[in-house]
Amino acid sequence: MLLTISTAYSPATDLGYLLHKHPARMQSFTLAFGQAHVFYPEACTERCTAALLLDVDAVGLVRRPQGQFAENFALAQYVSDRPYVASSFLSVAIARVFSSALSGKCKDRPQLAETEIPLSARVSILPCRGGEKLLRRLFEPLGYTVTAERHTLDAQFPEWGESRYFTVTLENTCRLSELLTHLYILIPVLDDEKHYWVGEAEIEKLSKHGKDWLTAHPEQESIVRRYLKHQRSLTREALAQLREEDVRETAETVQAQEEELVEKQLGLNEIRLATVTETLKKSGAKRVLDLGCGEGKLLRKLLAEKQFEEIVGMDVSHHVLKIAQERLNYDRLPEKEKKRLHLFQGSLGYRDKRLTGYDAAAVVEVIEHLDISRLSAFERGLFKFTCPQTVVLTTPNIEYNVKFENPHAGNFRHKDHRFEWTRDEFQSWATSITKRFGYTVVFHPIGPEDENVGPPTQMAVFSRGS
Ligand code: SAH
Repeated sequence: MLLTISTAYSPATDLGYLLHKHPARMQSFTLAFGQAHVFYPEACTERCTAALLLDVDAVGLVRRPQGQFAENFALAQYVSDRPYVASSFLSVAIARVFSSALSGKCKDRPQLAETEIPLSARVSILPCRGGEKLLRRLFEPLGYTVTAERHTLDAQFPEWGESRYFTVTLENTCRLSELLTHLYILIPVLDDEKHYWVGEAEIEKLSKHGKDWLTAHPEQESIVRRYLKHQRSLTREALAQLREEDVRETAETVQAQEEELVEKQLGLNEIRLATVTETLKKSGAKRVLDLGCGEGKLLRKLLAEKQFEEIVGMDVSHHVLKIAQERLNYDRLPEKEKKRLHLFQGSLGYRDKRLTGYDAAAVVEVIEHLDISRLSAFERGLFKFTCPQTVVLTTPNIEYNVKFENPHAGNFRHKDHRFEWTRDEFQSWATSITKRFGYTVVFHPIGPEDENVGPPTQMAVFSRGS
């Protein structure tokens, strides 16, 4: 199994920096299922080609009791194509051998990793269940020129017809990390098979490596289905996450401006964040979560308070997390500060083990972004499984909207809000939580309180078991 990556970028040998592999050296890596070798068949200023040769240990695979060949027919081990074709083995090799390049990191030439350069990848042999049509439907929307040469099943017996094996060339002008990511995800998709058990971790991989291109891909559904080995519940979950991501990304840009405009007159955001910070401080919490942290405005305030020894920011959107990381100057923080702060992607609609063991959670202006149908999953996730001692939660008070000059369609403060509640609605929701999950709750107004319609923001402070 051979993958070659070529470029005509000048100087082409910069490919060596991008791949973190010196063009003059041949390197070998031992993987669980065989050996991977990296070498450069050509390396000059005009053109450079790196090759990844995968030497899968066919005998080792057969001997493994639960291995790929534990199929229920006697000849399976002799007729299997696995050691010779591009499959999930190649994805594993890419992730292992080119891990920095896959994640777009380049120590020596960071600028270059960000640059779109002319690239060409050639894969032999690539099994395509779905044929050339599917191959094109997967790669062409991503900007690739696809050349595919189909192989006959057996040259000696042309009457056996065509095989599902191709030698494929993919050409594009893009970042190397994009090319590797597309191969990493789409090769197992084309093969429609994986050599390992597929579980929740695969959704994470999809979300991590697919977030920038899968949300808008016309074949999104079949990619996700095949990637998750046709397991229905995983597929459903992954698609839901991708859709959430998609909606957020478009909504967020508009959202920041809209909400700021609407609430600016009041300096409301500042008051809200200061109140939440004070409330968390008073609770005595040392380890805190900011769920739906957005661009990290609250995180900045929390970091300024020495009382908080560990601070986690979680958001469903990679995009805003990246902004948060930049705004907080994460990369330039001293080591000690870096240790205090963790940012990760996750969704409030799901249970998440990473969130357990914290003293308090802030959920600031987030619940109104959740579909009402996901609210009960959120409640269980936070109050039953994560169950911090304190939860500080804010949401708009819809009654106050009459006081804004530019109300939005549906009378919500911005388009991505799925609902906004009156004070009564919020309080009865919060009270129902206390009953079901053993919390008490106290309500506080945030912002200037109007005699008739109340404050612009409402806050509930939940305490466990008191
Ligand atoms: N708390 C921040 C951001 C509020 S905007 C602040 O007060 O400034 C709402 C945020 O919730 C967005 O960043 C959005 O990406 C995030 N969000 C929406 N649905 C989410 C979900 N299911 N899980 C986690 N975060 C979510």
